[in-house]
Amino acid sequence: MGTGWREGPLFGFELREYLLVRWGRACVYCGVKGVPLQIDHLRARSRGGTDRLSNLVLACAPCNSSKGGRPVAEFLVGRPELAARLLALAKAPLRDAAVMNSTRYALCARLGQSGVPVSGWSGGRTSANRARFGLRKSHVSDALCVGESPPGDRIVRRAAVVLLVGCTGRGSYRRTTPDRFGFPRPTRPRRKQFHGYATGDLVRATVPRGKHRGRYVGRVSVRSKGTFALAHASGRIDVHHSQLVLLQRGDGYRYDWGRDPAGG
Ligand SMILES: [Zn+2]
Repeated sequence: MGTGWREGPLFGFELREYLLVRWGRACVYCGVKGVPLQIDHLRARSRGGTDRLSNLVLACAPCNSSKGGRPVAEFLVGRPELAARLLALAKAPLRDAAVMNSTRYALCARLGQSGVPVSGWSGGRTSANRARFGLRKSHVSDALCVGESPPGDRIVRRAAVVLLVGCTGRGSYRRTTPDRFGFPRPTRPRRKQFHGYATGDLVRATVPRGKHRGRYVGRVSVRSKGTFALAHASGRIDVHHSQLVLLQRGDGYRYDWGRDPAGG
């Protein structure tokens, strides 16, 4: 972590939360719980210990003051196994839920120092909100229930139509496509745009005649010859680039208005 990272307004709070999660809300030396815990340097600063998270533990006031600046092994001289376990634990990576929680606290601490208001929120609090508003679990209802409730405890109404955003990517870096034996076929074109369009662009097509006569809105897959594949709401047709009007450049995402797919 860089210099100055400890100066954010939330840092003290987030650091304490991080250490409480990491050390199980107990004094690492005597195991006492439910008392105020102090941040202790495993290796004292007077002995070259750093402020890095891996050097910080939580200790009750009596343990902290009796340890003083002594090395852990000396303070815990009668309990060498505990000393060894602490030193090993401090270096060990965090696991599972602890990783998630601690990463969240560390991330909040880092973001908080940028000056932007940052707050953390847990899945449990989201689920409590969802229950309060009587919503079923879905990405949309979670999005409505994350964070502090509006003042006055307004009821969140389920949105009838929501904007659904999906990832489509921006194409491929591959310059060849293998044939069915795995040998590369002639290289793909180096350009992405043909006749002013790139794959993924949102267009409106007006087809004047033929089987597919009509107007369509959808995303194109471009081909060098000028006849593109257009994926619209109910199928896929071939269109000529001269029949198209660009509505939006492809940006790697798909946008659709629709019902919450998981909602009731
Ligand atoms: Zn203690």
